[in-house]
Amino acid sequence: MSAKKNQRWVMVIDPSKCIDCKACDVACKRENRIDAQGRRDTYRNWITSKGIEGTYPNLKQRFEPSQCQHCQNPPCVKVCPTSASYQTADGVVAIDYKRCIVCATCILACPYDARYKSAQTKVIDKCTFCYHRIHEGKLPACVDTCPTKVRVFGDLNDPDSEVSRLLAQRHYYVLKPEKGTQPSLFYLS
Ligand code: SF4
Ligand code: SF4
Repeated sequence: MSAKKNQRWVMVIDPSKCIDCKACDVACKRENRIDAQGRRDTYRNWITSKGIEGTYPNLKQRFEPSQCQHCQNPPCVKVCPTSASYQTADGVVAIDYKRCIVCATCILACPYDARYKSAQTKVIDKCTFCYHRIHEGKLPACVDTCPTKVRVFGDLNDPDSEVSRLLAQRHYYVLKPEKGTQPSLFYLS
């Protein structure tokens, strides 16, 4: 994987494979030097328990990993008064930390509770899709680490990418479609 023009980075998540080991959470904290102490312990990514599904004896606990959805119609970018929040040409929602005045309107605007004030940097932070790694030809740390391969990352504009093939072959959903945010995270049904 390497950075080229006209890419659209997305993540496909298969929640049925998630075992809630939280390796992705730890990998993200380590990669992005995030202290575990602070307002909450979820930060850039987290796992939600969605309860038990199935009928006895075929029961299974369901988990749903989540993070910033890198919306293509991002309310956080629209409300930011300093343009600190912006979209890259390849579909990633990013923050220019130097421009953030910590007004927190983006925190209120995000329907996914994906943003928080960093206890370390004192400005607003969230998942970056490990943008620094993508441009080194690497996968995001959470994708690289997941032992059960829940997360698949790639270029939706490449018809031969694994994400394109998965979305062509499988049923999927996005979180809170009624918000009209057009997320870049797709969950396999
Ligand atoms: Fe912005 Fe929230 Fe969408 Fe991320 S999930 S792009 S922070 S609105
Ligand atoms: Fe789930 Fe993979 Fe994260 Fe473990 S690393 S909690 S299996 S998504």
